[in-house]
Amino acid sequence: MRLRTLLAAAALLAGSAGAAAAALPLVAIDPGHGGADSGAVGVLPAGTPSGLPPRADARGRTLIYEKDVTLDIARRLDAWLRARAFPTVMTRTQDLAGGDRPYTSQIADLRARVDVANRAGADLFVSIHENALSATSSGTETYHFYYAGAAARSLAVAVHQEVVVRLGLPDRGVKQAGFYVLKNTVMPAILLEGAFLSNPAEAALLARPDVRQRIAEGVGAGIVRHQQGIRTPPTGYGPPPRPAPLVIRYWVTAGMFKSRGQARARVAALTRRRVEAVIRSRWSPRLRRTMFYVVTGQYVFLQSARTDRAKVRALRFPARIIGAPARR
Ligand SMILES: [Zn+2]
Repeated sequence: MRLRTLLAAAALLAGSAGAAAAALPLVAIDPGHGGADSGAVGVLPAGTPSGLPPRADARGRTLIYEKDVTLDIARRLDAWLRARAFPTVMTRTQDLAGGDRPYTSQIADLRARVDVANRAGADLFVSIHENALSATSSGTETYHFYYAGAAARSLAVAVHQEVVVRLGLPDRGVKQAGFYVLKNTVMPAILLEGAFLSNPAEAALLARPDVRQRIAEGVGAGIVRHQQGIRTPPTGYGPPPRPAPLVIRYWVTAGMFKSRGQARARVAALTRRRVEAVIRSRWSPRLRRTMFYVVTGQYVFLQSARTDRAKVRALRFPARIIGAPARR
């Protein structure tokens, strides 16, 4: 805010209304959730480094919280905008609710965020979120209020396009919603859902600092394009981030054999019971020979492997869960 005041003051001193009008907009950055509200929760392969506060559940699974992802992206966006002389205000700067207050209720949290932006006299409002639906839901979507004016629509389109080209995830489009922060802020306001934490592949993407930086820069570039009134969509941004290969951690096996022929017989027996299976050969250090494993499934999460094992056992095959070899 200080810089904008300075620019406005300089324009006043120079007696130029035009320079004041050219001052950059004050951008309110709203990192979704915080404090007692963790937002959506994703599950990562064990020990995935993220550069975010470490999170785990009672079963020891490595988790990723939406509130940590949104704050990290918001801080990156804040730095990106300030480096380009945009004045900014954050609705929270720590792992707390809106206005950096302890979380008491959702409505108090949301009201505080709106208050920060409205009281600061922000010109634009950008809320950062990550999505959650099913494990296979995928992609980026951006919202403005149902009855938003042209400015909010244009801002939503510009930010959405810039984030989509940088992430390379499915384009779920610019949508309308009645979210509290969109409805009650008095300036053009949008809400970005970058990717799905409920999708293990996208949770793994969001765990990467370089991907969060891409999202922040996409939002920043969208704000700049909106500010400059550029309507042409971005033409491209090079290759999208390479998806982190999901480390397959568990195999469910229905037998291991010394010969491929024996393994084929087991696969055939499973196929007759409508269980898909493949043969994987692997060196057994204990038996000191290559063994042929009949694999009915490979899983990131132990719970899914247990479900598969129960299914195979119910058909009276000897099913086991074993550690899968690391993928190269
Ligand atoms: Zn959210």
